[in-house]
Amino acid sequence: MSSVSRRGLLGAAAVLAAGCAVERHGPSATTPAAAAGSPVTVRWWGNNGWEITDGTKTVLIDPWLTRFRTGTYTPAGADPRTPISVDTALIDSYVDSGRLRADHILVTHGHYDHLTDVPYIAQRTGATVLGTETHLNLMASLGAPEKQLALATGGEDLAFDGYRVRVLRSLHSMTGPRAQIAYPGTRPGLGATNWPRPQVISDLVEGGTLAYHVTMGAVGVLNFGGANYIESELAGLRPDVLLLPAGGTLIRDYVPRLLRALGNPRYVVPTHWDDFDLPLSEPARDAGGLEPLRRAVTAASPGSRFVVLDHLETLTP
Ligand SMILES: [Zn+2]
Repeated sequence: MSSVSRRGLLGAAAVLAAGCAVERHGPSATTPAAAAGSPVTVRWWGNNGWEITDGTKTVLIDPWLTRFRTGTYTPAGADPRTPISVDTALIDSYVDSGRLRADHILVTHGHYDHLTDVPYIAQRTGATVLGTETHLNLMASLGAPEKQLALATGGEDLAFDGYRVRVLRSLHSMTGPRAQIAYPGTRPGLGATNWPRPQVISDLVEGGTLAYHVTMGAVGVLNFGGANYIESELAGLRPDVLLLPAGGTLIRDYVPRLLRALGNPRYVVPTHWDDFDLPLSEPARDAGGLEPLRRAVTAASPGSRFVVLDHLETLTP
């Protein structure tokens, strides 16, 4: 059984003033009030931003609501000198209304479209943040509350009240004829708060890449923040929902090899496929990778359901 809910959109639109794009597209105000024992839902916050919740506990992955213009999906590509900005009013509107909550925030890597908003969201929610040494240093230099930062290296299998988080070593997507990683590098020295505050998007280096398998209730959700993976890390994993990035052109048998390793998950939900220069309040616009991904999944695992969510929609697996 599954359902894709658009009630978030409609519910919020019904109760909030017209003309506010953010609110019109916000999740239902009733979401956080859901009783304990509610079904587990998986909500897409755009790009690789995900929320997994049972109404009581909430895990976020790479939440990035601000989505400033970078040129990433233009022929010229992103301007590396694009200033970083955080739309605190936008984030406040979600947090203050109870529609954005977090017990944990899981960071897959350091790039601007994954990490930029996490320090402020952590500050507002009190969530614990998992990431590599570089991710934590970047977030600390952006003002994240350091006592909330928790180091992960991949291999951790952590049991918290209401959910489990398995951290997997992973890889970033690689592009171009040399299979290179955008803005590579590290900011080593945990707690080195003297790293200069990142100012532009190229200051937010990759810093290693992690993947996460979150188990909440009877539902296992596996997320990759980049179109790549380490196959040996996935041995024995059988997620119900795979959040699969578009891309992976240079990765050998990117989709079939992954789906085979995971035992052909029941649900494959595309992630990181929308043009994030456009705001979260607008419908997701395919940056070009969605249909190739759909074809690859259908060919490799015809029994899997390929479920495309729009911004802020939920899947109830
Ligand atoms: Zn990246």
